[in-house]
Amino acid sequence: MNNYECPNCGNVMNDTEEKCRYCGTTNPTYSLVNKMIKHVVPVESSNQNSGVYSSKSRIACGLLQLFFGGLGIGRFYSGHTGVAVAQLLLTIFTCGFAGIWGFIDGILILVNTKFTDSEGKIMK
Ligand SMILES: [Zn+2]
Repeated sequence: MNNYECPNCGNVMNDTEEKCRYCGTTNPTYSLVNKMIKHVVPVESSNQNSGVYSSKSRIACGLLQLFFGGLGIGRFYSGHTGVAVAQLLLTIFTCGFAGIWGFIDGILILVNTKFTDSEGKIMK
């Protein structure tokens, strides 16, 4: 913790105070510390810390896709409706043959710990 003397009124501030409590002069030590914190903490991990996790389960999504991927059920669950409809239609048009896409999709969802739902939130 560093003490900093206000150049305006002489009040001693520490680096946890953003502004002088007497005259409102910005504390340069405070802004420096905050710049360092922002620089050191990468955007991705700060996103995770602020709790942008999906309320949906990735395991449930992966298993649904594994068993019903040909119908796009897992993708409907995760909110990727476009992909889900494409899987459903392709399976119908290929008489079920394209169901393998949904099956592989399910495996990829299960192994991908960074899998996100349609809102970009990580599914745990
Ligand atoms: Zn001051």
